[in-house]
Amino acid sequence: MTSKINDVIIIGAGLAGLSCGLELLKNGLRPLVLEKADRPGGRVATDEYEGFLLDRGFQVFLDAYPVSGELLDLEALQLRAFEPGAKVYLLDELYRVMDIFRRPKHFLSSAFAPVGNLFDKALVARLRLQMGKSELEDINDREDMTTVEYLRRFGFSERMVDDFFRSFYGGIFLERELRTSSRMFEFTFKMFAKGSATLPAKGMGEIPKQLASRFPEDCIQYHSRVSSINGNTVKIATGETYTAEHVVIAAPSPKSFLPDLKYPEIEWRSVTNLYFAAPQSPLNEPLLALNGTSEGIVNNVAVVSDVAPAYAPEGQSLISVSLLGLYPQRDLVDRVKSELKEWFGEEVAQWKFLRTYEIPKALPVQRPDDIPPPQPDAPYHLCGDFMNSASIEGSIVSGQNTARRILEGLTNS
Ligand SMILES: Cc1cc2nc3c(=O)[nH]c(=O)nc-3n(C[C@H](O)[C@H](O)[C@H](O)COP(=O)(O)OP(=O)(O)OC[C@H]3O[C@@H](n4cnc5c(N)ncnc54)[C@H](O)[C@@H]3O)c2cc1C
Repeated sequence: MTSKINDVIIIGAGLAGLSCGLELLKNGLRPLVLEKADRPGGRVATDEYEGFLLDRGFQVFLDAYPVSGELLDLEALQLRAFEPGAKVYLLDELYRVMDIFRRPKHFLSSAFAPVGNLFDKALVARLRLQMGKSELEDINDREDMTTVEYLRRFGFSERMVDDFFRSFYGGIFLERELRTSSRMFEFTFKMFAKGSATLPAKGMGEIPKQLASRFPEDCIQYHSRVSSINGNTVKIATGETYTAEHVVIAAPSPKSFLPDLKYPEIEWRSVTNLYFAAPQSPLNEPLLALNGTSEGIVNNVAVVSDVAPAYAPEGQSLISVSLLGLYPQRDLVDRVKSELKEWFGEEVAQWKFLRTYEIPKALPVQRPDDIPPPQPDAPYHLCGDFMNSASIEGSIVSGQNTARRILEGLTNS
């Protein structure tokens, strides 16, 4: 068995591990990234299936993310944007509510749609202005509470919370109770107000692929599941060992390979994502459709090929349906289709089921006043979305912060 010596070993080629590695490379260090899978990206991945591009779980890239925006070549990703707004299924119909700052022609229809009341719409405008003026850095200094409490304190009616926020933010936080930290709410609200929800033309998996392509060839090693660590020697399942001065743990749940590490018990939000192919789009516009009722199991629907046409072969549409949590698979497809017939009518009968993704560990729970776990003693360093915010931006920021911590340690020693 060989023992190879590196400056830094990074366990995990998710976005956090990749951004950490790139920051180290930029500063002259040579990291080795060990990844158990055959590809980079961790929770951000796209599969090709019968000519369709299936993201593993519906997710979007917010093009206002400042740090990711700087790190990624957004032009090369050919981002395709959702329209700013949504269609809300309520009272047996789909009602369009748009961001009237950006789509003023929809002012009247949005104002009078039976989603919340007129005062709520004015409050959305007020919150938008308020968030527009505040700096991202200030968010962490404000009082933290659950999102639902924040919305109530801001003056939103229970109807608006139920009709809109539970499904829209439920789809982001993967929970409709809105118990997630209001700081996460403010952060995402600001990002949505400032920019667009987008998909890379060829799938979300292009994001980590782009980052991974910037590493020298032998710096990322796939099919390398770390099985144990002893001091600063890391062993992978095939028996090979690697040694480094610093070991970055960018893989959530490292108890399996480092049982003695003081590591927070991460609680996870889960999601189930079903894909269907249809001869035509049930929406015909790049808008998210939301379940504004308290019934049913579907939370949100997106015709991703209306946003990024390459997600589906010519002449077909790709429909992504998100259910919060996990469900018994038996009859699930039929249950979802019969529910969506109420939204879109009989055309749903023609939809062809493609695939289900069950993601038990999709997002770390983010409660108010949660503080990131402390960094462990040398030679270990933690990074990942749970150290910052449960988002693409949060994982990239966390990776960079960890790299800077290592670099600072080197300059101070
Ligand atoms: C369904 C879903 C929807 C989401 N929606 C959005 C969204 O719309 N917008 C947004 O900004 N964010 C969204 N997110 C969140 C975002 O994708 C994550 O926060 C981010 O990808 C986490 O990156 P990470 O590097 O911290 O962790 P991970 O992606 O989990 O990376 C960890 C890596 O470690 C590897 N690993 C684990 N164990 C080992 C081992 N023993 N040896 C070697 N390697 C190992 C894994 O294979 C993986 O590659 C969503 C996530 C999911 C799952």
